[in-house]
Amino acid sequence: MTINKNKPILVTGGGGYIASWIIKYLLDDGYTVHTTIRKIEEKEKYKHLEHIGENYPNKLIFFEADLLKPDSFANAMEGCEVVIHTASPFMVTKIKDPEIDLIKPAKEGTANVLRSVNVIQSVKRVVLTSSCASIYGDNIDIKSINKDSFTEEFWNTTSNINHNPYSYSKTLAEQEAWDIASKQSRWDLIVINPAFVMGPALSKRVDSTSVQTMQQLCNGTFFFGVPELWFGITDVRDVAKAHILASFNENAKGRHIICSESLTMLSMAQILKDHFGNKFLLPSSTLPYFLIWLFGPLMGYNHSYIEKNIGQSVKFDNSYTIKDLGLQFTDIKTTLIEHAEQLINDQLI
Ligand code: NAP
Repeated sequence: MTINKNKPILVTGGGGYIASWIIKYLLDDGYTVHTTIRKIEEKEKYKHLEHIGENYPNKLIFFEADLLKPDSFANAMEGCEVVIHTASPFMVTKIKDPEIDLIKPAKEGTANVLRSVNVIQSVKRVVLTSSCASIYGDNIDIKSINKDSFTEEFWNTTSNINHNPYSYSKTLAEQEAWDIASKQSRWDLIVINPAFVMGPALSKRVDSTSVQTMQQLCNGTFFFGVPELWFGITDVRDVAKAHILASFNENAKGRHIICSESLTMLSMAQILKDHFGNKFLLPSSTLPYFLIWLFGPLMGYNHSYIEKNIGQSVKFDNSYTIKDLGLQFTDIKTTLIEHAEQLINDQLI
């Protein structure tokens, strides 16, 4: 399968944290980009893209599309050989109704996009932004695999609508995508499974969970201590590059874990402290388990989540991604420091 690099590329959910970097790199590389915005009148959400687009006249074209409106992606897809589908709600707290807030837009939205892919004959490849959340549910799940790290062979079997609904939404959406892809042979599906994404944003938006996490780490929210919570972490620019490598590497196949390293919130804080000194109200200790048990629910951690995650380390194996895509991972210290610097420069912390 050969991709014609002169054809436009569709990136869904353009105003988002990850999609914005994908679009920037595609434009830098000379591609024409079609991108969808949920509500075109909400200019605040994508004015940073208009600004980037000014350097590339006629190369960045905006379309309106909502995940819950069938066929709304078709116009934007016309003439594209590659569709990069990133749009999906990413929230782990403040979920009112998991079905409406997360599951429907993730699963039905993916199905809607792929139904249009089935109709628009120019499309040859779909690159889907899934997540490590579709590989595992809770950190404790690592104890039930016979390996010390998660690989692409694993699926999240422990999340459901009440327990880790975001992870459940990503699992259902990715499964739906593989199912739809398996029923035809004109286009192939490549999946990107990022761990928790950090690193500088191209916009001043603070509604991204990734950006909010860095803000909270620096603004004193955890000054009196952080839960002993391990994350796989990766750089937003590496995630964007992975999507582009997956778009054009003709031999790319399957799922791809994008994770640079696993570390705790306290070690993230330590990296920032080593670089910035006392500039921020960073945490310097881990909260005792009994305090998390007592007060965790107020911080958005229910008891089931606490039992299955707090104090349990987790690891991800990124070797397939390095082999299949040739991606080089950014050192996580650089990621965290440059993320904090961006928030300082944009006066967001
Ligand atoms: P983000 O900044 O919140 O971006 C989410 C994007 O999805 C936004 O563009 C948003 O549109 C769009 N969207 C949500 N609901 C929509 C709907 N009903 N119709 C149309 N568009 C809709 O988050 P992100 O971190 O860049 O996430 C992008 C993708 O990466 C998601 O699929 C997420 O699950 C995945 N991911 C993220 C991480 C992470 O740590 N950040 C890790 C693994 C995977 P608006 O601009 O209108 O809000």
